Amino acid sequence: MSRAVASASTPSRVRCCGASTSLRRATDNRLMHPAQPLLPPIALSRRNAVLACATWLLATAPCARAETLPDPRAAPGGVALVELGPAPLRPTATLGGTPLLVTGDASGWTAVVGIALSTAPGRIELLVRPADTSPPQRKAIDVGRATYAVQRLKVAPGKVDLSKDDQARYERERTHLAGVIATYSDEPPPDLRLLQPVAGRRSSSFGLKRVFNGQARSPHGGMDIAAPTGTPVLASAAGRVIDTGDYFFSGNTVWIDHGAGLLTMYCHLSEITARTGDIVTRGARIGAVGATGRVTGPHLHWSVSLNRTYVDPALFLAH
Ligand SMILES: [Zn+2]
Repeated sequence: MSRAVASASTPSRVRCCGASTSLRRATDNRLMHPAQPLLPPIALSRRNAVLACATWLLATAPCARAETLPDPRAAPGGVALVELGPAPLRPTATLGGTPLLVTGDASGWTAVVGIALSTAPGRIELLVRPADTSPPQRKAIDVGRATYAVQRLKVAPGKVDLSKDDQARYERERTHLAGVIATYSDEPPPDLRLLQPVAGRRSSSFGLKRVFNGQARSPHGGMDIAAPTGTPVLASAAGRVIDTGDYFFSGNTVWIDHGAGLLTMYCHLSEITARTGDIVTRGARIGAVGATGRVTGPHLHWSVSLNRTYVDPALFLAH
């Protein structure tokens, strides 16, 4: 078995993280094990062939890890993957004081960082604290631009402004939901790839800015999936149900905590079949599609929140 044969037999794993990463990892591996010989490309002895296989497997380990991470997009509403390097124990990382999701193992840790839609393009910095007594480090993310569509609508004035009672209800719910979205439990999920919670046509409307009669509303913080009322809604990943309720805008809503600040939210449900505190498995039924809250028809609004900010759910779905 030669290195070339091994690579050719598993093209998808090789493609996922690119040749440059593989080469860098292979070089790092040699540096960590200086007794290991450099690998000739062809005509390997049996002993060297075994070493070649072992090296190739080690070199492609980051590939396997990449398959469990979201697609990176360092732009508002996207996710940045920041390499923190090897360390025996998991470091902690924060952005503006908010704890971040750090995944990996002793061979290399990665901070998975949600970038708020409101972030201006430019440099932001994480603060990384090693688990030992080493000093904290700063890691930079260069946030690029993202262009989201703007939809301008003219509607009757009564449809834009909330009544006094509705406004008061909305304020109470906003305070409550600010507490829900701040949930952070220490253990990160083993796999950050999520299941689409309901089959159906996916909108690409994440980030859409809506302007009603000249007044800007919050940009769309999720993905809408069209499906008939009553279609089962499934948990995108294993986790703990941290909130259920009937809210003014989002109607019947379920929140699930997947760990380390990764949360999912399911809105406008016709019924909720999970209870706060339930531990759910990936694919467990938590409710059904509906049209509750402020909507014009049945669909699922599905949001993904990472470090207290809504990010594009499409980045977490398998291709
Ligand atoms: Zn929506």
